[in-house]
Amino acid sequence: MITLFQHPFCPHSRFVRLVFGEYGLDLKLVEERVWERREDFLKINPVGKVPTLLIDGRPLDESCDCAACRRFSRAYLRHLYVSDEILGLRLLSLHNVHFLVSLMRGARAAIQAGTFDSWASEWLDRLASGPDSQT
Ligand SMILES: [Zn+2]
Repeated sequence: MITLFQHPFCPHSRFVRLVFGEYGLDLKLVEERVWERREDFLKINPVGKVPTLLIDGRPLDESCDCAACRRFSRAYLRHLYVSDEILGLRLLSLHNVHFLVSLMRGARAAIQAGTFDSWASEWLDRLASGPDSQT
């Protein structure tokens, strides 16, 4: 289920409702009064603006401890990306660089321990099995 945090008088929210309606997609509507700045809404969208789509409240990568994954949901990151917000690209870059640095740190440790073959095999198995199995 996709949740739309919106305000009935917001033209951007209306546009989202129209597009989803055009494609026959169900939306759970939650009226959000942005001036009230509800704490649970700010956890989903720290900027506190509507419309906000909540597709999935999980982080981008549950096994990642980068700032983007610790602080923001994948729904919010998607919103930033779709909205062409530069913050979305910066957070995704932060996650990607953190992933590569962590990967190389693990490879270096495995080489030093003489266990690189098993480490690489384990990584390849994790990557082949998909992103949600890496938690
Ligand atoms: Zn991350």
